[in-house]
Amino acid sequence: MSSKYDIIIIGSGLGGLECGAILSKEGYNVCVLEKNALFGGCFQTYSRKGHLLDTGIHYVGSLDEGQVLNQCFHYFGIWNQLRLQRLDEDAFDQIRYNGTDYHYAMGYPRFVDTLAQAFPQEREAIGRYAEQLQAVGNLIGVEHLKQGIIAQRGIDYFCTPAAGLIADLTANPTLQNVLAGSGLLYGGLRERSSFYEHAMINHSYIEGAYRFVDGSMQVPLELIRTIRAHGGTVRNRSEVTRIIVEEERVKGVLVDGEERLESRFVISDMHPCRTLDTLDKCRSIKHAYTSRIHSLENTYGIFTLYLVMKERSLPYRNQNLYLHGADEVWYDKERGMGRTAHCMISMQASSTESEYASVVSILTPMYIDELSAWKDTLPEQRGESYQAFKRRKAEQLLHFLKGQGVDFGPYIAEMYSSTPLSYRDYTGTEEGSAYGIIKDYHCPQIGFVSTRSKLPNLFHTGQNLNVHGALGVTLTALLTCAEFVGGEYLAKKIGNA
Ligand SMILES: Cc1cc2nc3c(=O)[nH]c(=O)nc-3n(C[C@H](O)[C@H](O)[C@H](O)COP(=O)(O)OP(=O)(O)OC[C@H]3O[C@@H](n4cnc5c(N)ncnc54)[C@H](O)[C@@H]3O)c2cc1C
Repeated sequence: MSSKYDIIIIGSGLGGLECGAILSKEGYNVCVLEKNALFGGCFQTYSRKGHLLDTGIHYVGSLDEGQVLNQCFHYFGIWNQLRLQRLDEDAFDQIRYNGTDYHYAMGYPRFVDTLAQAFPQEREAIGRYAEQLQAVGNLIGVEHLKQGIIAQRGIDYFCTPAAGLIADLTANPTLQNVLAGSGLLYGGLRERSSFYEHAMINHSYIEGAYRFVDGSMQVPLELIRTIRAHGGTVRNRSEVTRIIVEEERVKGVLVDGEERLESRFVISDMHPCRTLDTLDKCRSIKHAYTSRIHSLENTYGIFTLYLVMKERSLPYRNQNLYLHGADEVWYDKERGMGRTAHCMISMQASSTESEYASVVSILTPMYIDELSAWKDTLPEQRGESYQAFKRRKAEQLLHFLKGQGVDFGPYIAEMYSSTPLSYRDYTGTEEGSAYGIIKDYHCPQIGFVSTRSKLPNLFHTGQNLNVHGALGVTLTALLTCAEFVGGEYLAKKIGNA
């Protein structure tokens, strides 16, 4: 049996669902297919003994009224349904470097003043750094949307090294490290990371940083409500095992190897490597293109340790804490393998008990190479040796925290953890990478994947195309949908929503 849709969207990550919401609102008959039981990809929240554990969203930026993500969420019709907590204005991020704490404050005047108190000689340099962040951040915005522009081009900043630009602004090595201190947010590597990515992400948080209360999963669930309200279909436990190509056009997909669904267009929210692996062989996709996409390097993955706290034991902190136990805040793969030198700590409090942390998530970089013993296994086949590895890693991480003056020991009720293998197997990201394809500042064009594919009716979306994260993925979803309804039309519609 086959059903006919206008557009099939593969994957219910943020990118897939946002495309589904936009295009169903525009009158297309869409069908979103998700392989997992839970929707949302990295936005999914799972539950353990009643505690909500977020998988890939700890805070989100540009959410104040009048800012771009806020405007998009208004357009999607989900803003008023979301439960959010604005983070501490004076210190939404705390960077601990060489045993001293430094704070990132919200709003540029306060951001500059706060850091200048710690580095009085460097006020001017901090001011120039803030100007550079804004130069990138202002390439997007509600005013641009109103004028029909989704995003202005920022290729020069993609070609600029983040570490290099910071070093040009200040010779103070401590300040250099402090300004790069939240690089874990984008898989920061001194020799690779571009200032565009660094600035787009930092700017969005300085503008307006928020945490989801009771889990980030509320975003996918609300987007699904929007899609269904506009006649669209959203299905879980529906893995696309083949993208069907006939006469150099996509005809639809095969679900779980047996159910054929037909459509006029397909949008893939999968990693581009997975899209190519799933696609029927065809003349339009040359071997050289497939090789290029498969050769692209991806960011490191993340080991996440979830600490479920004893009830009403640990006061909630409305900020994130970045700990650095090395001379350099930039992650070094050679030195980093098997040891912990950097991590990010993020607390969650529930809507019913806002004074106390219910869960503490601790994130630290990890490459899949560390997990080579289990690389050919599926989640339920990894056995006791994998559990023992995760326990050792958790102990090592807690030991590192203690050395940095953070001891959660007395508050812990339960511990859970996930590794890059979890992400590889649940969201299908290449090698368990956290943020997808690296846009290396040396030649960012090599890492760009277009929203259009080599087939006329197959499109890409998601974090691998441009910048990852809630904001980056949303902008890419707009660019993907612009292929259907026109960029100027869509931008104005969202800008004036
Ligand atoms: C540990 C971690 C922490 C992060 N923290 C933050 C943060 O605090 N703030 C922030 O803004 N960003 C953060 N990010 C990044 C952000 O979560 C992602 O960039 C974003 O959610 C990716 O969305 P996506 O739609 O591109 O992909 P995904 O979320 O990966 O979605 C892809 C979807 O496709 C589905 N799929 C794959 N193959 C198939 C198939 N064959 N058939 C059907 N479905 C399929 C997957 O199951 C998945 O649901 C974090 C990421 C990680 C990993």
